[in-house]
Amino acid sequence: MTGNDARKIFIDYFKKHNHQYVRSSSLVPQDDPTLLFVNAGMVQFKRVFTGDEKREYSTAVTAQKCVRAGGKHNDLENVGYTARHHTFFEMLGNFSFGDYFKEKAIDFGWDLLTNGYGFDKEKLWVSVFHEDDEAYGIWRDQVGVPEERIVRLGEADNFWSMGDTGPCGPCSEIHIDRGEAFGCGAKECAVGCDCDRWLELWNLVFMQFERDEQGNMTPLPKPSIDTGLGLERVISVLQGVPTNYDTDLFVPIMEKVGELSNKKRHESDQVEVAMKVIADHSRATAFLISDGVLPSNEGRGYVLRRIMRRAIRYGRSIGLVKPFMHETVQTVFKIMDQAYPELKESSAFILNVVKNEEEKFLETLDTGMKLLEATLEDIKSGDIKSGDIKSNNHSTISGEVIFKLYDTFGFPVDIIEDHVKDMQINLDMDGFDRAMAEQKARSRSTKKFTGVGDAYKALTSQGVKTDFQGYDKIVGTSEVL
Ligand code: ATP
Ligand code: MG
Ligand code: MG
Ligand code: MG
Repeated sequence: MTGNDARKIFIDYFKKHNHQYVRSSSLVPQDDPTLLFVNAGMVQFKRVFTGDEKREYSTAVTAQKCVRAGGKHNDLENVGYTARHHTFFEMLGNFSFGDYFKEKAIDFGWDLLTNGYGFDKEKLWVSVFHEDDEAYGIWRDQVGVPEERIVRLGEADNFWSMGDTGPCGPCSEIHIDRGEAFGCGAKECAVGCDCDRWLELWNLVFMQFERDEQGNMTPLPKPSIDTGLGLERVISVLQGVPTNYDTDLFVPIMEKVGELSNKKRHESDQVEVAMKVIADHSRATAFLISDGVLPSNEGRGYVLRRIMRRAIRYGRSIGLVKPFMHETVQTVFKIMDQAYPELKESSAFILNVVKNEEEKFLETLDTGMKLLEATLEDIKSGDIKSGDIKSNNHSTISGEVIFKLYDTFGFPVDIIEDHVKDMQINLDMDGFDRAMAEQKARSRSTKKFTGVGDAYKALTSQGVKTDFQGYDKIVGTSEVL
């Protein structure tokens, strides 16, 4: 069964059960400043859940493009390291807007997984919100799941919300036990563990509340259903492969990376991780640009820029020093443009943007590398220029210099680390953290973004090329690019 087949089975199943098929919305949320990107199937229906908008149908089915690379749901740094996380992925979902509720949602979910997709019942586990006796009872008494495979979990796992505000409610999830070989080996490893053994497939959300900015929860006009089943996870199980990256949605991209870098899969951990990162980020890049996001220094565009730079950086780690993403993105087109014709329509534009951004970043890297080399020369000759390095120890690159490279030139810290690895040079990362904290405090004191324009003008008038990194603090990721 291919990824395309699995998507179709889902949509057809719910169409057969009288759900209206609704196309995926754009990755850019419509009129929703609370959200960076669409991160779940329910987003396009948010106003339907809250009763602010009426539709002609009360049930729906979608295969929704999602990106989780910022905000409340952020998987950017998981990519490359877990079997199951992507920045861009497809969420299959069925929805009820005041139509059916818990019982039917649970029935549909179980029926489709076991009869439609043919999953082995014995391997499926379910979790419910710890206070939700009703859902527990439905699983045990109606579906017949033995008690030892029903677990009660707390708010972190089984109370779903789109963001800090918006529709939310308790949820119940279906997981598959992939076996001990996938586990972390910890004694307490069980459903809800962060390792890849208990693969979470499907989240059934019992939408009941809307949370406001103060955290108050108001009941929705009608209890509703929102579900999300990860397509890439489903087919990893159906195709009997260990990770999402071994499915037909990813293998051709991984192979393309291998061909370009002359590396083989599993050759080393470093190669495998880099291949996964590049494959994943190539998909996110293609889809984000096709939905109108362009790499830039702020907002959504900055997140795209970070995704692309992360891919380019991992590419360098396996010897890809020339632009390569425009090639891997073309492989994404081949796999996905049947299901998402918008990719085909804007393919030339997407490739142009990608190539441009790659070339620009490689230039940034060159500039940063020159500054780094100059600093290393200074260190070697003992000639420390004031303002560049305020360290007493000549074999240490000061935090200020690292921060300057990072902040002003957009130069990734781990490239510095790689570069000095064999040189007996220390990096003053405490100093870096201090410089970062000082900058954060400065930008906080200038309130919102008001000071950035002035700082930018001041720097550019001095002829400095800047690369604003401030959005880091907003998207809430700690990774330093
Ligand atoms: P996990 O605990 O594995 O991070 P989640 O609980 O954050 O998943 P939900 O918010 O419940 O995920 O989303 C519904 C479904 O979407 C998940 O059960 C999973 O199948 C899929 N999914 C969620 N995040 C990702 C991701 N980053 N990449 C691929 N699929 C995902
Ligand atoms: Mg998650
Ligand atoms: Mg989860
Ligand atoms: Mg979940």
